[in-house]
Amino acid sequence: MYELRPKRPWETEEAVMFRSTVRRFLEAEAVPRDAQWRNQKFVDRDFWRQAGELGMLCPSMPEQYGGGGGSYALEAVITEELSYAGLTSFLQGVHGGIVAPYIERYGTPAQKQRWLPKLSSGEFIGAIAMTEPSGGSDLQAIRTLARREGDHYVINGSKTFVTNGHTADLVILAVKTDPTQGAKGMSLIVVEAPGLAGFRRGRNLDKIGMHGSDTAELFFDDLRVPAANRLGDEEGQGFVQMMQQLPQERLGIAVGAQAMMERAIEVTIAYVHERQVFKKSLIEFQNTRFKLAECLTTARVTRSFVDDCVARHIRGELSMVDASMAKLWSTDKLCDVVDECLQLHGGYGFMAEYPIARMYADVRVQRIYGGANEIMKEIVARSFS
Ligand SMILES: Cc1cc2nc3c(=O)[nH]c(=O)nc-3n(C[C@H](O)[C@H](O)[C@H](O)COP(=O)(O)OP(=O)(O)OC[C@H]3O[C@@H](n4cnc5c(N)ncnc54)[C@H](O)[C@@H]3O)c2cc1C
Repeated sequence: MYELRPKRPWETEEAVMFRSTVRRFLEAEAVPRDAQWRNQKFVDRDFWRQAGELGMLCPSMPEQYGGGGGSYALEAVITEELSYAGLTSFLQGVHGGIVAPYIERYGTPAQKQRWLPKLSSGEFIGAIAMTEPSGGSDLQAIRTLARREGDHYVINGSKTFVTNGHTADLVILAVKTDPTQGAKGMSLIVVEAPGLAGFRRGRNLDKIGMHGSDTAELFFDDLRVPAANRLGDEEGQGFVQMMQQLPQERLGIAVGAQAMMERAIEVTIAYVHERQVFKKSLIEFQNTRFKLAECLTTARVTRSFVDDCVARHIRGELSMVDASMAKLWSTDKLCDVVDECLQLHGGYGFMAEYPIARMYADVRVQRIYGGANEIMKEIVARSFS
């Protein structure tokens, strides 16, 4: 039998051990609760705390802030294991793979001390809000305004599609501190959300997939936030900060997409061995074998590039262009593979109780979030000149 989940070239002994811990934990504590999370449209807070106790929320953050002190390999392991377990509810990738690194990289010592241990333990759930109702692709065009008043910013505007937005305690907000400027007028401000006057959560949005993950609208109406909550020593650094962090976000999507592709193939191989049609197993038809051979080849080739990108990111050498290619390629291929695998399930593939049906609905968004794949092509194309 072909090994679909080989040991990764970037996987250290520490990462191998961490993987088995994460896998056992997810199987025992998360998989049994996933149906409930999908029903209620969010992951229970006590699960975040459990994951924090296990060191699964911020494994690559320095130990002095309560993190695991590991490399990005540990973040990649969690992302893969969530995909293998079919879990799209618990978005540690946003919390530990995106939010915490912004604070770690751009925060002052006081900011780090204040927020990182809480993110690491799960006392705080983290979110990042860039997208606005008027548009997400054109980040420079955001309208949420932070006006300086003495020691505070007064923030007005709104955000949408915010992952963890319904439950988050800490939200990194992309705002305009100078509306006369494009990129240079943007800053990132950390909001400790619960109980703040002027901070309102809208609906926990109804999505076609990823039902267990909360995705919310946020509204700011004269929201007063201490100026000390800005990330970066001066205003106007937000756009550059986002450009520096987006490669890791996109790589994370690619890593999850790659593993989800492997899971789709695994469940389909099992299904076509069991299913009988015309008095034969479905696997005996050449079409089935050829389709799965194509899917497996796609997954294996994708794995090589994604693994290469992970290794380069661990060495601090991943470029924006390569991260964009990885996101573009792996999410496009994921959707193709899941579609083929669903077809091989026949009508059962359309039944929500089958993993492949849930995958079909869950994966579609991956070509859109983290920057739509058309934006990925723009970034790649810009490298020609
Ligand atoms: C489930 C989910 C979770 C999300 N989580 C977060 C989050 O945590 N934080 C956050 O800030 N955002 C989040 N987003 C938002 C996501 O990043 C945006 O939806 C995405 O960036 C696209 O922005 P938009 O939806 O406004 O589409 P638009 O910007 O309106 O674009 C629509 C479409 O137009 C096309 N397009 C746009 N620009 C170009 C171009 N230059 N060239 C060619 N075609 C183009 C693309 O096909 C694109 O899909 C999430 C979205 C979803 C659905």
